Formats: sequence, C-alpha cells, structure tokens
Amino acid sequence: MELTDYNFIMALLARHGFHFSKAKGQNFLIASWVPERIAAESGADEGTGVLEIGPGVGCLTAELAKRAGKVLALEIDGRLMPVLAETVGALENVTVLNRDVMDADPAALVSEHFAGLSPAVCANLPYNITTPVLTKLIASGLFGTITVMIQREVARRVCAGPNTADYGAFGIFVDFYYHTELLFDVPPDCFEPRPKVTSSVIKLTRRERPAAETDEKLFFQVVRAAFNQRRKTLVNALSSGFSGRLEKAQIARCIAACGFSETVRGETLSIQEFARLTGALGRKLR
Ligand code: SAM
Repeated sequence: MELTDYNFIMALLARHGFHFSKAKGQNFLIASWVPERIAAESGADEGTGVLEIGPGVGCLTAELAKRAGKVLALEIDGRLMPVLAETVGALENVTVLNRDVMDADPAALVSEHFAGLSPAVCANLPYNITTPVLTKLIASGLFGTITVMIQREVARRVCAGPNTADYGAFGIFVDFYYHTELLFDVPPDCFEPRPKVTSSVIKLTRRERPAAETDEKLFFQVVRAAFNQRRKTLVNALSSGFSGRLEKAQIARCIAACGFSETVRGETLSIQEFARLTGALGRKLR
C-alpha cells in the first residue's frame, strides 16, 4: 500500500512542508500489514460508522473505508488537511475534520455523521493522550467496539487481572464497561519516526451491561482509593481515601463482613469483590 510506503510518505510530506511533531504523538505506520490487520480486526462492515482519531496520512483511514459504511476521521494537525485531501479526499464514505478529539462531543458527531450505522472506534492513537481519550470514548457509552493501537505497557494495564503488577484503577474502569482483548504487538520499526516502545493493538467490546451491579460513582471512588496507595493494606488505603467520611474501624468491619482478611490489599480484589465492598461501605455512608 502506497500510504505506508516510506519513500512515498516522505516525498508526500516534504512536498507539503510537513515535519513530525512529537508533542502530537506523530508516529506514522510504514508497514502495510499493520493498518490492514487493525481494520480487519475492528470487524467494521457496511453497517458500521467508524470514528478514527488521528488519521495522519490516512493509511488506516483508507483500509477502514474499504470495509465500513462511513469513516469519520478527526485530525488535530491542520498541516495534514491538504495531505489527507490528496490521499483520502476522493473516498466517498470518508469525512476528515480538523478537530482535537479532546474538544469533540462524541454524541454530536455520532448523530451528525453515523445515522443508521452502529458506531465504533478504530485508531492508531497518539500516545500522549491514550488514557484520557479512551476514558472519554468509554464514558460516552456510544461505541460498540473500540479497536486501537496503544503502547504495550498501557495495553497490558487495560487487559490485566487481579494479583498482577499491571492491575489497577484504569484497567478496572475499562473492564467494567467492555470485554478486553490484547490482539497483537507491533514493533517500533513499523513506524516513522520510530517510537522507543513496542505497541499493541487491543479490542474492546461493550458489555451488554456493566460487569457488576453497583453504585458506579462510589465503586470508582473505592477503586481509586484502593490503588492510590497500592502498597498499603486495603483498610489503610480506604481510610486515607475516605477520611472525614468513614472511620477506619467502620471500613475494617466492612472488609471483614465481605469475607476478606484484615490485611487484604486492593490489588487482589476482582470487580465483583470491589462491588461487594462498595455495597457494604455505601450502607455505612448513608
Ligand atoms: N493513523 C496514522 C498512522 O497510523 O500512521 C497516524 C497515527 S499517529 C500515532 C497519531 C495521529 O493523531 C497524528 O496524525 C496526530 O497529529 C493525531 N493527533 C494527535 N493528537 C490528536 C488529538 N488530540 N485529536 C486528533 N488527532 C490527534
């Protein structure tokens, strides 16, 4: 594919006077198998409206356009707009907007661009905003699947389970709303410029209902408090997190009532166990 050919891209970008911006997380793919495989794994078809974040020169955009009903690509860097007009401008089912995804309103974009289509996300995400952008997309509740390339380290955190060093509040947030799959790794030499770290492609598939029935606001307060001080026992971590709201002795009784040892640490608890604890703590808070 031309749009991943190193010489083609460098000549195209030079013609437009473009220089890579590290601050914008610009590492463009130069291996054709990668966008082909990401687009295929996304499962997009003619019934899908795909939101792409950061099209770059449009290699993934073009692959998605072959499969999806519609592709809406948001690109923050205005210098890439004339480049994208040249590379994907003729594709009828592609719209490119010069927009910062962090300022965009996903609900407005979906209703304006994806009428009658199932919304999904597929992107090679800029690494500097991986966590906030995933948080925003997940919290919107709009997307059936989110297939993205991110740093391997973050991918591991997203897909980690209890009792592992990678398990934490962000992974629990994702897992609460989406089934998570770690699909494949992409080495640094597939990009220009080369990033320092390996990347991974993950696929998130929205759960029919959240992983546990619970007071979601309190649940995430409990989870964040537990992992804010992950070396501490759960009772000590929650005492700090809920200071002024709950006494340490009350927290200890809740932990015991849920059947956990008094020295238990948050990183050993599953989502369902955190939900059980949230219920017990919520009854004390009332
Ligand atoms: N999709 C291309 C590829 O795979 O070769 C480029 C991926 S590159 C890792 C990330 C892209 O996201 C860049 O084009 C960058 O300009 C764009 N970008 C960075 N921050 C953004 C933001 N906040 N909103 C939209 N696009 C952004």
